[in-house]
Amino acid sequence: MDHLPIFLDVRDRPVLVVGGGTVAARKAEMVLRAGARITVVAEELSEDFRGIADHERLSHSRQPLTAEAIAGAALVYAANEDPEIDAAIRDLARDAGVLVNVADAPLNCDFIMPAVLDRDPLVIAISSSGASPILARMIKARLEATIPAAYGRLAAFVGRCRDKVSARLSPGAPRRRFWEGVLEGPIADLVLTGADAEAETELDAALAAITKGGEATARGEVYLVGAGPGDPDLLTFKALRLIQRADVVLYDRLIDDGLLNLVRRDAERIYVGKMAKDHTMPQQEIGRLLVRLAREGRRVLRLKGGDPFIFGRGGEEIEQLARAGIPFQVVPGITSATGSSAYAGIPLTHRDHAHACIFITGHGKDGRLDLDWKTLLQPFQTVVVYMGLLLLKELTGEFIARGADPTLPAAVIENATRRNQRVVVGTLADLYDKVTEADIKGPALIIIGTVVTLRGKLNWYTPGSAASAAGGALHGVSVDPLDVAEIDGSD
Ligand code: SAH
Repeated sequence: MDHLPIFLDVRDRPVLVVGGGTVAARKAEMVLRAGARITVVAEELSEDFRGIADHERLSHSRQPLTAEAIAGAALVYAANEDPEIDAAIRDLARDAGVLVNVADAPLNCDFIMPAVLDRDPLVIAISSSGASPILARMIKARLEATIPAAYGRLAAFVGRCRDKVSARLSPGAPRRRFWEGVLEGPIADLVLTGADAEAETELDAALAAITKGGEATARGEVYLVGAGPGDPDLLTFKALRLIQRADVVLYDRLIDDGLLNLVRRDAERIYVGKMAKDHTMPQQEIGRLLVRLAREGRRVLRLKGGDPFIFGRGGEEIEQLARAGIPFQVVPGITSATGSSAYAGIPLTHRDHAHACIFITGHGKDGRLDLDWKTLLQPFQTVVVYMGLLLLKELTGEFIARGADPTLPAAVIENATRRNQRVVVGTLADLYDKVTEADIKGPALIIIGTVVTLRGKLNWYTPGSAASAAGGALHGVSVDPLDVAEIDGSD
């Protein structure tokens, strides 16, 4: 982080804005909104000052700037839009030990101005550390659209009720939980529709009920959440909400760091990962741990790669929860088959190629595959194999031995949807060799079927291709192109 984000109280404090043009006017406006007293030092004030020139907290000085004036200021804005003059003001401010902002020169600044989304008292400040103010403004525009104007009122409501809640609930989990209940439930809805008085009555009732029943009655619950194949942009809103609500998180190897960063910082993280051969924590034990943590009254997040109910053993975990009477929620995720399909440009069904798609696991018993070959060898279908990398040689060999065309296209997608996604395309006959040569380690998914040939047409991501340069979201993916290493025989 290049800058420390803080919110400064400048109410009634003196701030100097040096300059009378557009940039100076914009800075002055923002500082006035925060309640400071401003002196604008400039020969003339431009038209841009029209709305604020008469403000009671703004005074205009035509006197040359003195070192004393600078030393007495809480902050200085050098906004003459003349690099030399602004640099001289910066030097004066630094000599006086006063923090200075130089317009359009982030490297010369002690502090920079974020893009601000104002839902007073709720304020969101966005900064790109000076790297791209336009990007910061674009993000601000998006937030403008998603954060209702009434959130300011909601924040004010909470501010008004804070003291009485703090007086009755102990800090930490009890208070946090109470406020989350308020903010995510009908009380917040009342505030957002303008019924503040009714909302406060409801809040008082909820507070009374809790203090009567005692805080110890707080009930834990478990969220079994599908986190998708890796790209955090593929989370559902619900997954994100529960991820941020959890007190403790159980995660495994398929969970990307980018996803874990979304967990609350004070939440406990427990790794229960499994490598194919070395079982860190048996399934039963994970289930028992979920039950124990929930019984402690905690909100437990079980984060699963992909979808929890697709080869995720989510069913077994919630069986244990159900038996123990622990409340739980299951949130679906994008399974790695659809993630791979979209990000590798291989549709799983297609009018001319596949009218069905089968998901199987290639995780054989005792190193041997036990599959329903009659079904798998049907024409016009796509077969997607999870956990098949270790037995890839046996798998492709069996397909051929049982009558499949050795030239049937097949692909392996490693680290699908992540920045290090790799795609190996071949046929049943040569896929294993190509995968070995590419040193694919997984997690990887195998796609078998003629749909794989469509990748040539639909692979929007081939680095340097016209489509990837043009940007956009052809496959419903983020605009930022993945760094896809191509080891692609057929393209
Ligand atoms: N519930 C998960 C699957 C868990 S089984 C889901 O819905 O995706 C684990 C297997 O999933 C891995 O062996 C691999 O075949 C596949 N897998 C998971 N994440 C993947 C990824 N990012 N890229 C490719 N395959 C992945």
